[in-house]
Amino acid sequence: MMKKKWKCACGYIHDGDEPPENCPKCGAPAKVFTLLDDVAAELVERSRHTNTLHARLIGLGREIEQVCRDGIADDLDPGCVKVFQKTLGH
Ligand SMILES: [Zn+2]
Repeated sequence: MMKKKWKCACGYIHDGDEPPENCPKCGAPAKVFTLLDDVAAELVERSRHTNTLHARLIGLGREIEQVCRDGIADDLDPGCVKVFQKTLGH
């Protein structure tokens, strides 16, 4: 079963059976936290998943860029260099 999620008035989400003593983001006490219902908790999970995918995509983009720069610097085969340049966008 999915862990319980508690939301602070500031928007911070805490995962656990109980809310934290104080919010690590704004310092508000536990009583300020509200328990998210299943639909809201599921949305938080999906949002985290999307953020993870986004971060991975940015990482892959950087990797592709580096491969292209390395290939251009290597400068062996004109056909390959053209592909590296085209992938980089110039
Ligand atoms: Zn807070």
